Amino acid sequence: MYTNDETQRLTFAQVSKAKSRLYDIRIRVHVYPPFVPEGEEPSNYFNYSRFLVPRDVCYQLHCNCARLHTQLVEYSKILMLCMTTTKTGNWISTVDVVKTLTTNTFSVLQFKDTYEDEQLEKYKTLRMQLWASYRI
Ligand SMILES: [Zn+2]
Repeated sequence: MYTNDETQRLTFAQVSKAKSRLYDIRIRVHVYPPFVPEGEEPSNYFNYSRFLVPRDVCYQLHCNCARLHTQLVEYSKILMLCMTTTKTGNWISTVDVVKTLTTNTFSVLQFKDTYEDEQLEKYKTLRMQLWASYRI
């Protein structure tokens, strides 16, 4: 996803077939925060693509609990799919869990090595075609 001009890094969101709400131009999804390793500064650089997936998220609207809640995102801001099920039922994913960074409360995911360059280039190209040019 590309959320705004200030955010250059990739932003990831999860669509749940059963629980995400689809609207005319928006969809309600969980937007995952970036994963920042301890001692590192947060970065907006494109290749900064690790993200954090809490084990327990909340699907309630207008709820004040401490879990992650859904946000409305325009379809036009979704630039590429990283995980999906094909028509024949095969699960394909260009991101994978980083086991060494994963804890009991969250998983950390990033692009698989085999997809990293291809996906980042695709994202940069789409982002520039659809939106403003980026600064690094
Ligand atoms: Zn909640």
